[in-house]
Amino acid sequence: MEADAMPKKSGPRLCCICNQRRAVLKRPKTLEQICRECFYEVFEEEIHQVIVENQLFKPGERIAIGASGGKDSTVLAYVLSELNRRHNYGLDLFLLSVDEGITGYRDDSLETVKRNELQYGLPLKIVSYKDLYGWTMDEIVKMIGLKNNCTFCGVFRRQALDRGAALLKVDKVATGHNADDIAETVLLNILRGDIARLSRCTSITTGEDGPIPRCKPFKYTYEKEIFLISLSCQNLNKISTYAYFKKLDYFSTECIYSPNAYRGFAREFIKDLERIRPRAILDIITSGENFRISTSTKMPEQGTCERCGYISSQKWCKACVLLEGLNRGLPKLGIGRSRGLNNDIKKDTKQGGGTKSIESKQCGSLDF
Ligand code: SF4
Repeated sequence: MEADAMPKKSGPRLCCICNQRRAVLKRPKTLEQICRECFYEVFEEEIHQVIVENQLFKPGERIAIGASGGKDSTVLAYVLSELNRRHNYGLDLFLLSVDEGITGYRDDSLETVKRNELQYGLPLKIVSYKDLYGWTMDEIVKMIGLKNNCTFCGVFRRQALDRGAALLKVDKVATGHNADDIAETVLLNILRGDIARLSRCTSITTGEDGPIPRCKPFKYTYEKEIFLISLSCQNLNKISTYAYFKKLDYFSTECIYSPNAYRGFAREFIKDLERIRPRAILDIITSGENFRISTSTKMPEQGTCERCGYISSQKWCKACVLLEGLNRGLPKLGIGRSRGLNNDIKKDTKQGGGTKSIESKQCGSLDF
């Protein structure tokens, strides 16, 4: 065989950014093949740009990072500490965890957060359902079973985070919600016709009218980049992740009470779309941002709970309604669609209450 006819032996594919090092992964968002070093750089730089362009933080602010021990919040704690140092944000960072009281899940994941506290040198505050509400999720599930448990958990967590943030005297809470989470939430809110949540779920900062605003620096960051990038490179199947590459210490077990229901289907649907069109996740977020709410749509007015003083559009906040049900041995009191409970909390306990089911991201993470 002549030399010309010999099949060319192809060398390793080079990183399309630096053109020097070997590409080891394909970015899910752009499908670029890049090396590990360039991946770190673009990953961190994109988050820095999001923070700067959206003015998420101001110098001197105290920021609590909602930390569950899961991959998203662990990467967030790591990246925010790095960027804070590198770009002199001048932030005082803290880790804030909520202990729902779920044996075999949260107790283990909190051990991870405690290690993160030492690894990143960030002070940690843990607030527990037991201390705040007198109930653990284990006790709640014992009473109510595995239906609606996430409604209780999501409502309690939201308030617990605010209470923890107030104890830390922080200016803002940063959460690890990523682009996939936000796209799922857009879809779920459309399916449920939940206009109020749809209008705010794509905002990078929420709750500015409430006690402590929350922001999502990972709003445009794909879950796969944080966690799992399956790639086929040089005929080798490799698993690459920012968390994995950086050898970050995180907890990856799912909650033992996870229902894996409605949100799970939305998640699968979005993953299918992403397989066909990687930009689908960003497109759904953009669609959510572009929804305009008709001025004739009545939005709930924010007030304060008569019982505990927390923000509420009803007489009692959702947590107080649910708690009342638990304490009276009538856990269905706060579940369902009836508005009667808040109109007359004591009158009719058999008809159910005014809280709509909210499933949290499953889970470890924080409800929007
Ligand atoms: Fe709570 Fe999440 Fe577990 Fe549901 S899946 S019980 S919201 S920790």
